[in-house]
Amino acid sequence: MDTVKAIARLGFRRWYERQLVEGHGWLVTVFLAMIVVASCIEAADFRESVAQALLMAAFAAGAVLLAIHAWRRYLVTMTRAEALGEQSHCPACKGYGSFTVEASGEQRERAVGDEAARYQPLGGAWMRVRCRKCRAEWTIE
Ligand SMILES: [Zn+2]
Repeated sequence: MDTVKAIARLGFRRWYERQLVEGHGWLVTVFLAMIVVASCIEAADFRESVAQALLMAAFAAGAVLLAIHAWRRYLVTMTRAEALGEQSHCPACKGYGSFTVEASGEQRERAVGDEAARYQPLGGAWMRVRCRKCRAEWTIE
């Protein structure tokens, strides 16, 4: 529902643009974290100081965890944007991303940790939208 609210508030095109910026921000984070990992491996020297080497190993492990998290966020953000982008063509006039959200809701009651809803772009929600050009309606889910 957070995605539906954001699209209703910003409009689809602005929301989509922000998703691309956010997704690529996560991708840059992955690259920076990998640079940190490489730097820590380069700086770790067990012959000189074991304490410093362990500290570098801890930094490297933290950077790996950050990179994994950032990579997951990148995939989720870009996949959601792509899936909703594919549904954002008006079925009547084929206009792209120019609609207003007329209604929205949850598809059904979900159990906590429902796996099926996790893989839907709106997380189990739907929104009824109306084209700004030709006033046609369709449902995005
Ligand atoms: Zn239309």
